[in-house]
Parts: sequence; structure tokens; C-alpha cells
Amino acid sequence: MITHFRYSYLAALFVALGFTQVVTAETQPSINTDAAFEHEFGEHFLEAYWVVNPDHAIYEGYYKNADLCQIPSNQTRANLNKFLTEWELKLNAYDANKLNSSNKSEWAVIDLDLRKSLWELNVLKEWEWNPSHYNVAGPISRLLESNYTTLDQRLRIIGKRLKATPAYYSAAEQCVKNPSRVHTQLAIDQNQGALKMLGQDLENKFKHSGLSALEQNEYIAALNQARVAVLGYITWLKNLDQSLGDTGARSFRLGAKLYNEKFSFENPDSLGAEALYAHALIEKEIVLGKMDALADTLWSKYLTDKDKPQDKLVKIAQIIDVVSRQHSAPRDYVQNLRVLMADLTRYVSSTHLVNLDPNLPLGVREMPVYERGISFGNAESPGPYDATTAGYFNIIPPDTYPTNKVESLLREYNTWTTQIFTIHEAIPGHLVQLQHANQSPSRIRSVFSNTTMIEGWAVFGERMMLESGWGNDTPELLLMYWKWYLRSVLNTIVDHGVHVGNMSETEVKALIVREGFQSEEEAAIKWRRAELSSVQLTCYFSGFSQIYDFRTKWKKQQGERYTPLNFNEEFLSYGSVPVGIIIDLMNSNHE
Ligand code: ZN
Ligand code: ZN
Repeated sequence: MITHFRYSYLAALFVALGFTQVVTAETQPSINTDAAFEHEFGEHFLEAYWVVNPDHAIYEGYYKNADLCQIPSNQTRANLNKFLTEWELKLNAYDANKLNSSNKSEWAVIDLDLRKSLWELNVLKEWEWNPSHYNVAGPISRLLESNYTTLDQRLRIIGKRLKATPAYYSAAEQCVKNPSRVHTQLAIDQNQGALKMLGQDLENKFKHSGLSALEQNEYIAALNQARVAVLGYITWLKNLDQSLGDTGARSFRLGAKLYNEKFSFENPDSLGAEALYAHALIEKEIVLGKMDALADTLWSKYLTDKDKPQDKLVKIAQIIDVVSRQHSAPRDYVQNLRVLMADLTRYVSSTHLVNLDPNLPLGVREMPVYERGISFGNAESPGPYDATTAGYFNIIPPDTYPTNKVESLLREYNTWTTQIFTIHEAIPGHLVQLQHANQSPSRIRSVFSNTTMIEGWAVFGERMMLESGWGNDTPELLLMYWKWYLRSVLNTIVDHGVHVGNMSETEVKALIVREGFQSEEEAAIKWRRAELSSVQLTCYFSGFSQIYDFRTKWKKQQGERYTPLNFNEEFLSYGSVPVGIIIDLMNSNHE
């Protein structure tokens, strides 16, 4: 835990606010502390939280403030700062150790989120240097997809957001100062996606709606103004990007201080960024050893007439190259994925690994345009307030890729790798985990989700499936699994290397290609992702390690009573909170 950091940070906060006394009489814990905590934080805190975070609310399926397009002004940030500071003080009026285990975990989750948000607002300040922070498309698209109320009603809400769009982008231009060029270019691309989203389809929805002619005209006029505003922001960014080319821009590298702080917020129970990096360097060698053995096994099947290279990296690469040719045709990829999803659904049920909700089938769909630009596929789940819609495995159809890139993409996502990929994104990975999180009785724990837990679970799900017998230890599948897992390990090395060290584009790509056996295309994507994000890439390996180690201990401790279903269901029942908090809860539940 990062207790020390918390107290020193709070101390600084009190000084800043001029507090002389930390706990006032009114915020003293009442007689029934748990009940008071549940009332104050289970109800009032979240209500107030959604007022200052209306966009986040939409993603959680909470629509009470959905018509509010928040203008990113100084006033908005001051309000947020005040909110975070006041609630952190209220939270600290409770002695977490006197709360029951469920409330104790919520206390920890809220505390982490408030401190992280204050740090993001006042220290990291991404709102200043990352122009892709500003995009109106996401919430509007969510509102269009959700069925929480009639389309007409949702169009009115969207209409109000469209009216605020010009003010939104003009405030955004005021916020952006000395951005990094890669984030500026991302903002240009993604706002071009937003422009498409505000296109003819949306206009037709207004035209064919049940809204009065007066309302229709009003909102279509607002839509036109919104388009002008998005286009204006794009033009402004293009000019800015050119001038940054001359004057020099902020580096996209976070540097050791910000990196370590960010890492602590995302991985509150780990040994820290440096320790994880050291662990990853060792794990890389272990995995390469396993792949070496599998390459020997497969050599006699595929390359028996060829001389086996002495260099194990060259040997593994040659075997991977042969096995990677086993892949779908570009236009069949999405359909094959649907078949695989059905197979995985049947498998996890018949082997009793995890429970699936039969009323919420998990689907595959083409990724919405505005989300494209970072990865080939992702999991999209409804929020806990809106848990009646299904989750989706979003995929960019390979046949929409430039022709010269399709083959390389499909070799990377070949028949074997696609199985691991789908296990990770969908079953029993992200979609299953998020579906369980939505059923968690604690809204707090579902809403303030921890990326390390979420990615760690998906990586853990891959290993669990193979250990349970999925694929019957087929050497091709195992080889591709280790290659895939090696990505998590290399992600950690790359992320740390780029943001704390000075790892260059050439070095990153060489590592990914030579020791990760990935294509040039994947190496380029990884470099881009390392430029655009930080710490996120370490979460896979960090979360996996924590969960796997805990499961190993748990199995031993439970002996005969252990079943995968019991472990998985209980682990997932606590929501998307840091792994260490789940471990505490499970231990205290079984004392
Ligand atoms: Zn009340
Ligand atoms: Zn993932």
C-alpha cells in the first residue's frame, strides 16, 4: 500500500487549504459508523460525484445529468478540485479500520480515486498537454447506443449537448498549452472520427424522429454548429502541430517522478514500478526457455528438412513464422470470431470455470469509428447502472485495413493467437469480468475500477483456460500462447523503458520483433501505444502476477474444498477493485 504517500499528500493539502483542524465535530464518526458511512458514501457521495463527472456517468449507465456537456473551463476545474478536496476530508473522518470488510474496501477504493483525481488535475495535468482529451463524440455515441429511454428523448439530450459543443471546443483551445505532438496528432485523427459521427446518419435520426418540426430544426441547426466547432478545433490543432514542429513540443515521455506516482495509483498493492520491471526482465528469459522447447517439438513436424539454427531466437522465429500462416481469410475473420465465441461459451459452462448470464449474450461487432486508432480489438461493456445491455467484443474488420497490411495483421492474429485474444477480451476475460462486476452489490467498487485488476484478470483467464484443458496442450497453441503472454512481459519492459528510460523507437521495435516475435506492424502499434499512454501497458503483467500468486496460495490453503468455479466466482464478485483489496476481502471472508 502507499499509505506514506497518502498522508504526506494530505498534509500538503491541508496546508494549501489553510486547515488547522482536520476533523470537525460534524464529521466525527457517529455511533453506528458503518451505517453512517453507507449513507454518506453509498448515496450522497455518488450523487454528488456524477454532477461533477457527467461524462463518466454516461459510461457507467447513469443518465440523470446526461444533457450536461461539461465545458472544460477554469471554473469547472475549480469545482472539481473543491469537490475532491472536500470529500477526501469527509472520507478521512472515518477510521477505515473500524468499518466492516465491505465498507473498508469501499473506503480504500474511494480514497484511491479521490487522490488519483486530485493528482491528475493538479500534478499530471493531462488536460493541458493532451488535446485528445477533448472530443464530444464518445458520450453522444453512448447515448445513441443505449436504450435506457426512447430514441426521441435521447435525441433531445443529444441536441442539448450539440448546442454546448461550440463553447466546449473554444474552452478546449484555451486549455491546451505546449502539448506533445503525438497527442496533438491523435486528437486530429479522433476528432475527424467525431466529425463522421456527427454526419448524415445522425441528421437523419433527427429528421425521422417523433420530435416536432420546431425541435428538429433547432437541433439540426445545433448539429451544423457542432460540426463547424469540431472542424475548427481540427484546423486549430493542425496549425498548432505545424508550429510545434518549428518551436519544439513537450516530450511524450512522462519521466521517473510522474511515472512512479502514476504507477502507485494504478498498482496500489504492488512492489512498485522498479520491482515489476526487474521481475519482467527475469520472466522474459523463462518464457523464451519454454518457447525454445516447443520450437524443438514443432521443428520435426514443419521444418524437418531444414537445418535447425543454433540461435534459439532465430529458431523460434522460424517456427512461429510457419505456424502463423494458419489464419482466417480477411473477410471470414469476424464470422470465425463469432463461431469461436460460441465455442468458448459452451466450454466455460461445461467445464464449470465461471458462470455466464444466459440473459446477456456477449457479442462481436465492428468497432465504432471514433474508437479506432489504438488497437485492433477491444471489449466494451455497459456500466453498472445500465447492466441490462450486452457487452461487445469490438473488432476492426481486417478487410478494411490497407491491402499491404492485411497479411501481417492476420499472421499476428492467426488461428491460434485469435483463440487467446478472444479468451482475453471476451470469455472468460474482460466481458465476463465486467459482467460480474456489474452484478456486484457495491456500486462504488464497480464504478471506480482498477485497470491492473481488469487486465490482470484477462491475462489470468488465458492461463486458466489452458490449464483447464482448452486446446488439449496442442504445441502450436502453447507456442502462440507463450508468445502472446510474452507481450504482457515485454509491454512492461517497453513502458518503463520509454517513460522512465530513454528507449528509442528503434530499440522498442527491435525488442518487439526479435525477442517478442511480433510483426513490424505490431511493433509500430506498440511504439505508438507507448507514446500515447503510460503505465497502462504494465497492468497486464502486474495484475496477472498478483492474481496467479494468490490463486496458487488459495488452492493450497483450501485443499479439498477448492474448485475453480468457487474461486473465480468469489474473486469476481468484489468488482473491479485493486487485487490487494480483493485478497483482503476473500481472506477475511474465510477466516
Ligand atoms: Zn441523506
Ligand atoms: Zn485487456
